[in-house]
Amino acid sequence: MINVTKSYLPDLEDYVTLLKGVWERVHLTNDGPLLRDLEGQLKEFLGVKHLKFCTNGTIVLQMALKVLDIKKEVITTPFSYVATTNALLWEGCTPIFADIRPDDFNIDPDKIESLITENTEAIMATHVYGNACQIEQIQAIAQKHNLKVIYDAAHTFGATYKGNSILSYGDISTCSFHATKVFHTVEGGCIVTNDDALAEKLHHYRSFGHKNDTYFGLGINAKNSEFHAAMGLCVLPKVPDLIAARKQRFNYYDSRLDFTRITRPTLTPGVIYNYAYYPVVFDSEETLLRVMETLVAQNIVPRRYFYPSLNTLPFALVTGAEQPCPISEDVALRVLCLPMYPDLAEEDIDRIAALVNEAVVAISEDV
Ligand SMILES: *Cc1c(COP(=O)(O)O)cnc(C)c1O
Repeated sequence: MINVTKSYLPDLEDYVTLLKGVWERVHLTNDGPLLRDLEGQLKEFLGVKHLKFCTNGTIVLQMALKVLDIKKEVITTPFSYVATTNALLWEGCTPIFADIRPDDFNIDPDKIESLITENTEAIMATHVYGNACQIEQIQAIAQKHNLKVIYDAAHTFGATYKGNSILSYGDISTCSFHATKVFHTVEGGCIVTNDDALAEKLHHYRSFGHKNDTYFGLGINAKNSEFHAAMGLCVLPKVPDLIAARKQRFNYYDSRLDFTRITRPTLTPGVIYNYAYYPVVFDSEETLLRVMETLVAQNIVPRRYFYPSLNTLPFALVTGAEQPCPISEDVALRVLCLPMYPDLAEEDIDRIAALVNEAVVAISEDV
């Protein structure tokens, strides 16, 4: 079977070597030496000031909202993984959905300002598929209206915008290190900020609010373990090669697919991409379903990512009022992520592209 993604596993011996140290020290979690080593290496790799390694890419979104004291309305994107909206809802915030740009599917800054009310406290946007949002425009709106900016940068590991890690923008950026992401620690994530005071709070938040034997304040358990840090230490040095391998496959898809009836999202100028996903957009949901059926019959499993548009989830509409986002709703019906991972074989891409091309032509001849 060819799945939409396949996790990278490092040499088992490298991992076991690090585990031997864990067995010697019997220090399994709680700010262990491997975790500290990984945090240091991640900061250097990404060129960011403060980074806290945590248990996943969802709890760090919740910590971001908590540390910035966001409780009311947050303008957010309807085109993301459900975790973005869930984090807002779980923290008791009200998601207000701004529609996306038709070319790159990131939140449209031109749709944000008209949604701002006296209850708006923040903008939470996702750098979709690892491609940067309109960062300067979002920053200008936030500054003008005194709003915080949180980026769900779960897809952006290794991608840069104007020479800096995409994770370095906004008041806070978060990343997921889930097994399916470009860099992973099996389960894991991080929270990034340039602000010293926020970083100190986040450090304590991660560990129940403990400050030595007393309490800094409220906290949660978002600590990650030495076992997860060890995986990160083994995968991180491979990231440049993994991204290079992804790039090759990405370009090969580009050369094999027939773009007469298929489109692809654009990249923001200034981005050096990490090739995290290979999304394609069809002319209709009907075509998408036909393509999926064709691929699945050959044991090839693409993924509808993202689907559905998050503004259509009944539980997301806290105020009860509908929040139409026609562009996101339309794109969500027509976008499909094709298999993309570093050791995907060229012959497999040949086969996938041929099946997609044939299915698209076949359905266009049906009608
Ligand atoms: C993967 C992902 C998350 C969640 O990360 P976990 O580590 O699985 O909790 C959040 N947002 C986006 C956009 C994601 O793709």
